[in-house]
Parts: sequence; C-alpha cells; structure tokens
Amino acid sequence: MKQYLRLLPAVHELQKDPRFETLKKKFDLHETQLTEFLQQEVGSLRKSLLAEETLIEKATPDFTGQIFKSAELHIQIWQEDRLERVINGTGTVLHTNLGRSRLSDAAIAHVVRTAENYSNLEYQLVAGKRGSRHQIIEDLVVQATGAEAAMVVNNNAAAVFLILSALAKKQEVIVSRGQLVEIGGSFRVSSIMEESGARLVEVGTTNKTHLVDYEQAITEETAMMMKVHTSNFKMIGFTETVETAKLVELTGKHQHVIFYEDLGSGALYDFKQHGIGDEPLVREVIESGVDLVSFSGDKLLGGPQAGLIAGKKELVERLKKHQLARVLRVDKMTLAAMEETLKSYLAGAEKIAELPTIRDIIRPAEDIKVQAQLFIRNLQSKSSNYHSELQESTSQIGGGTMPGVEIPTYIAAITHKRLSAAQLSLCLRKVKPAIVSRIQEDQVCIDFRTINFSELDDLLAGFVACQ
Ligand SMILES: *Cc1c(COP(=O)(O)O)cnc(C)c1O
Repeated sequence: MKQYLRLLPAVHELQKDPRFETLKKKFDLHETQLTEFLQQEVGSLRKSLLAEETLIEKATPDFTGQIFKSAELHIQIWQEDRLERVINGTGTVLHTNLGRSRLSDAAIAHVVRTAENYSNLEYQLVAGKRGSRHQIIEDLVVQATGAEAAMVVNNNAAAVFLILSALAKKQEVIVSRGQLVEIGGSFRVSSIMEESGARLVEVGTTNKTHLVDYEQAITEETAMMMKVHTSNFKMIGFTETVETAKLVELTGKHQHVIFYEDLGSGALYDFKQHGIGDEPLVREVIESGVDLVSFSGDKLLGGPQAGLIAGKKELVERLKKHQLARVLRVDKMTLAAMEETLKSYLAGAEKIAELPTIRDIIRPAEDIKVQAQLFIRNLQSKSSNYHSELQESTSQIGGGTMPGVEIPTYIAAITHKRLSAAQLSLCLRKVKPAIVSRIQEDQVCIDFRTINFSELDDLLAGFVACQ
C-alpha cells in the first residue's frame, strides 16, 4: 500500500485545483486556513495509507477528489456553532446543563447595544472622571430588594467566596450541619468555606438544629453566622431548622457577628401566589434583618449568570474594596442584561411575566395543552412512522431550586415504528437545532412548558429528519 504514497497530491497542486477556489468561496475562508485544512486531510490520508487502513479499489485512486470531499465535510463541521442552540423539551425551566435562564427581549437588545458600542462602564460622564462598574446597577438591586446597598459578581458561588474571604478569613463561621449542601456537583458549601480561609463551625445534626446550638457556638472568634438555603433537596420527616428571624435576634445580641444568608435562587417574584413552592422573597429576608444575602442571577431571577449581593452598606462597601472583587467582577454584557431584567421587575407584574423564566414557570397547563395538541396533529400529518399522544405530566423548576415542586403540564409522548426511545432521542440530539427530550416508559416525551410557539416548526423539522 505504501506504493500509493507517491500518488498523494502536493499541497501546492491542491491550491491550483479549481475546487480550491470553490471551497474558499463557499465557506468564506482565507487561503491559509483552507490550505491548513487540506494539509490536515493529506496528513491523515498519508497516515492511514502507512497504517494500511485505506481501502484502495482502483489502480490510480483519485486522492485529490477524496481530499477535497473530506475537507468540505470537516470545514462544515468546524464552522458550525460549538455553543449551539438547543430546543429544551424537558420542561425543566432552569436546566443547568442547558444554560439556565433565557433572557428577555429587552435584555438581549441591551446586550447587543452594549457589545456594539463603547459605554460608560467605568466612566462618570458628567464629571469626566473614572467611575466604578459597581455603581451601574446598584440602585436597581437596591430598589428590587429593599437593601441598603448591593453589588454584582460573576455568580453566586463567587459571591459566597467573596463574602467569606472578605469578612470571615481566619475567623469562625457557624453553619448548621443540615445546610452543608453540595450543589450541582461542583459547589460544596464546606469546601468553598475551606478555600476562603474561614473556619467552619458545624452545629446541630443533619436533621435538627436548634437555636441553642447556635447560641453555644458563638465565641470571640465568631465572625459570621451563615444560613444556606438547601435548594436542591428537601428533608422530610423529623426535622428542625431555626427561622431567620430567631437567628437575626441572636446575632443582634453579638455586635461582632454578621448574619449572612446564601439564598441560592433568590426570588424577586412571589411564586407562592400561583401555588408554586414556598421560596421566600429576597425583600422579605432583607426586611427580617439579615445583614447580607447573596443569590444567583440566572436561577429564579431569570437574568444572566451573576451573583447578587445585597445588605448593609458598611459590609457591601468592604466587599467592593476587597481585591477579590476585581477578580470576580462581571463584564459589561452581564451588567446590560441584568439592568434590563431588574427594570422588568420594577415595571410591574405584566413586565415580570414577560421574563422567559417567570413566564414558563407560571404558564398555565391549559396553554401548554393547546401547543402539545397542535404539535401532535402536525407530526401525524407529516409522518406515519410516529405514534404520539397527549399525556398529563409534571414539570420541575430545576437549577437546584424548589426541590420536590412539581407543576402540572402536558407532554407529547412519542414512539417510533422502528427506533427505540433511546435511538430516537439520540437522533433528535444530533439534528440542528438539537432537541433534548425526556424518556419515560420507552417513550420520547416532549414537555411544552419550555418550548415557545416560535420553536414549533424547528421541533417538527427535527422529528421529520429522524423519521
Ligand atoms: C445555586 C446555588 C449556589 C451557586 O450559585 P451559582 O450562581 O450557580 O454559582 C450557591 N448556593 C446555593 C444555596 C445555591 O442554590
């Protein structure tokens, strides 16, 4: 087979081939980049000839044609989005693996304006002086939460790390054993405390912690009492936690102890009015007298990835001045998206319901049913390989928020004449845009809670492609 090696075309010959120009135009590539692609193809063909892996059928194989064909395929794959669009058919609104919150139109528009132009990110226009990015949206967080002061960092994990490092390093932080949670496999409250240099003082037991447990743990060395919202699991049965108000009263008696609550999700909208979960409002927690709270920007709030910190002015000022604040700072596009998201909250219920996360969570089952029925009808008319039926089901909020809360929904439960549910769902993940579904009892299930009407055509096209 090695005798074929001399038949491999030289790269300069490929450059003279008319197909070189065709590919260059088709993919809008620079010569150098296209040449590199072709070099790679020649290289891998040479390798497989040496390894005797290539099947040669003719006496004079058309290596040039083979190289151009294979290069075309690889260039196409290379140019496709790596961070690609997905249709979320799982019904889980805050799917951490699928990017959590979708942004509102207003937020997206502001991100684009900000990305396109220069901005006053760190510049005071009237004074003509250097400004601080911390100031850009602080007033909005303050208005939305009722806190004295606020700041925004990269995510809530960063917020926890900053708060512990800046305010409790080498000192003791009291936490209930039942709240030493792990979130999403990569965020462990106990590990992040250790990294921050704060000394963890565990109190109570896994299922029960009493006020007196906290009381007895307070010493001269105590810098902070931390309460962690156990967002991704629910303990049932014989349990006891101490209410925020009681802890506020206790820390009030010890001037040197800060009370900080990691709220996890942090709701600015009252989902309880729709009978969904029992998530406290950030405003209520602040009103109860907590010194500092932190929460995520892209969980129940429905904005970009960020960590919001709100609370006493004196403490927030110390955080802003800490070196880590520079390390954990957010970029201008995050600030732009967060600004518009917060403005929607301040503009009242109608605007709030336009935030995709809120809209999807409170979406009535009847509305979802109409959409599911429409899809099922369309699929039946397009392909006879599928059997699909409407079923009642439940959706979860996800993102480690509101564990155990299940909201009524409707799904299309689909089976294929030849393909198993696993095979069909694999095919659906490979189409563009990819479709992520849920498998239940060997049926591929699409929960329409997380699918917009505008996505129905793409959804249908994906199923047709897999028929
Ligand atoms: C989600 C969560 C975090 C981490 O928040 P990110 O914004 O994902 O970094 C921290 N603490 C709690 C209690 C959480 O639920």
